[in-house]
Amino acid sequence: MRRLQNVCLTVAVTALVVSYAAWSSLTATTTLGTSSSASRLPLGDLREHSTVCHASLQDQRTFLPSNNDSSLPTIFFITPTYPRREQFAELTRLGQTLMHVPSLHWIVADDNPECNPFLTEIFQKFGLPFTHISSPMPSNYRKRYFVPRGVSNRRAALKWIKANAASGVFYFGDDDNTFDLTLFSEIRDTKIVSMFPVGLIGEFGVSAPIIEGGKVVGFFDSWPADRKFPVDMAGFAVSVEYLLQHPNATMPYKAGHEEDQFLKSLDLKMSDIEPKANNCTKVLVWHTQTVKKPKHNLKVPESIFSNLRTLLEKLVSLGVVQMGAEVSGKEVYMVVDGHKNEVTKRQVLGLS
Ligand code: UDP
Ligand code: MN
Repeated sequence: MRRLQNVCLTVAVTALVVSYAAWSSLTATTTLGTSSSASRLPLGDLREHSTVCHASLQDQRTFLPSNNDSSLPTIFFITPTYPRREQFAELTRLGQTLMHVPSLHWIVADDNPECNPFLTEIFQKFGLPFTHISSPMPSNYRKRYFVPRGVSNRRAALKWIKANAASGVFYFGDDDNTFDLTLFSEIRDTKIVSMFPVGLIGEFGVSAPIIEGGKVVGFFDSWPADRKFPVDMAGFAVSVEYLLQHPNATMPYKAGHEEDQFLKSLDLKMSDIEPKANNCTKVLVWHTQTVKKPKHNLKVPESIFSNLRTLLEKLVSLGVVQMGAEVSGKEVYMVVDGHKNEVTKRQVLGLS
């Protein structure tokens, strides 16, 4: 009897899982279309909403790279980002790399339902042509065991390219990766899809195409996963013309398979791939990862030194710390002569 109950339970659970999987894959493909098809969905939380917060087409860098030739094909550098403590540090480092690159348009798509004005502000400071997009991940995908990170962002950026670009090359560059400036001159003349090694990937320490006679014959990657193109997101660049010739090309919300399925949706053949980085012998991009920590909640008294208040308020607005006078926060102090002092101005100056 007990066994029968178990069998029934297993069957019921399996049926539930199968029907959920079928339903979620159905709805996932329906959301690829317009908002009218999305509005027929049973649940609103698979729906995509993206907004262009700000676009600047002018190159306003004060120090232009010496080779900033306007006839160069534009590189559309697509960066998914999301609010967390480290976001502004990552984007500062990346933006200052990109400032050295001629003819580049930075598309930064933030996994955030709001347009964060502080992001627009730092992009304006870099002076690069840029598009700032708000592209939150539909909340149902965030509940998955393997979350498809950065997908809503990249899809929104592709939508922007399809609507606004006619030529050039695009590349997916995450906000925490490290880019050698040589990469940009390598990918700029991509005709269809170019590929190259990415350092610090998986258990081989690198993911790279394998080349014979100037052609890609296979891949060196420690996670095959039945992928035709087992490459990292940072390991390829695509010509805009080629994308426009494949209007149905899309990146799925399928963690670990985004690259492979996107490249398949472009109808890419192995023989089309253009090896870069000196026949895939060099690493020009590294999959670095920043240690992520939750932001600290600081217990800060009302009356503190004004520079400290301004500084902390700035960090609050950039999402680095939280502060308040509540008891649960970490008590802050000032160090004078190696000793902890209260941070209130009156007491430190001995005026009390
Ligand atoms: N990302 C995002 N939303 C998230 C998590 C990540 O938009 O909830 C972005 C992130 O900024 C990065 C990309 O997606 O540009 C890949 O994420 P992450 O670096 O965390 O993944 P990893 O490189 O460690 O696989
Ligand atoms: Mn990363």
